[in-house]
Amino acid sequence: MNRLRLPQRIEDGNAPHKAKTRPPSSFSELGISLAIQNALKAMSIHTPTEVQASCIPPLLAGRDCIGNAKTGSGKTLAFALPIVQKLSVDPYGIFSLVLTPTRELAFQISEQFAILGNSMNIRTAVIVGGMDMMSQALELGNRPHIVIATPGRMVDHLKSSSGEWNLSRVKFLVLDEADRLLSASFVPELTYLFNVLAKERQTCLFTATLTPSIENVANVPPRPGKQKPFIHRM
Ligand code: ADP
Ligand code: MG
Repeated sequence: MNRLRLPQRIEDGNAPHKAKTRPPSSFSELGISLAIQNALKAMSIHTPTEVQASCIPPLLAGRDCIGNAKTGSGKTLAFALPIVQKLSVDPYGIFSLVLTPTRELAFQISEQFAILGNSMNIRTAVIVGGMDMMSQALELGNRPHIVIATPGRMVDHLKSSSGEWNLSRVKFLVLDEADRLLSASFVPELTYLFNVLAKERQTCLFTATLTPSIENVANVPPRPGKQKPFIHRM
């Protein structure tokens, strides 16, 4: 006699349509590579947070993204994981620029990249105010893959660079703490940076506070046929 098959929704406790839309609950389901999953395990990170589960797939698929989630919800890895994963397929020039409003945040972000990229020879440079310009200029000349910077110091370097590096190949721009970066005090620097950055790139903005200016910046630069940014709201 055939074994009675229970309908799926009873077997797994979910309605079939809910089962399909359930957010991914592992980094492997999100499409994160085995090498990176191993680096995460070494950090005792096993399950993606909500903002990670939501933003990583569209970022890996090449979309722009706004991630709105409260402090401590894991926004750094929501952009760092797609950057590190995409980097391995396109390692030429400065691949990613991560802008952040303070030195302290820049160093915190750089620590996470250092752990993730440990086995992958990823070069990062932290370019922030209050540190030696000369040694930073040498680091920039050493063709880092990822630059984590505060806007003012990044602009200082662009203005004094003799041209051995530039931002024209940046494929992945991050504005972390975007609400603070878009405050009036950073407008001149951000305008300068937006003018020298490659237009064909992904842009993602992460913030604990969603403001209309964040949604506007996510649409810059407009390109024919460009998809609207994916927005994760808290
Ligand atoms: P946010 O930028 O949203 O304020 P962070 O990216 O700084 O948050 O992350 C806060 C803390 O959570 C960090 O110590 C980070 O290592 C940890 N963290 C990030 N993602 C996860 C995860 N999926 N599981 C457990 N801890 C995580
Ligand atoms: Mg953060």
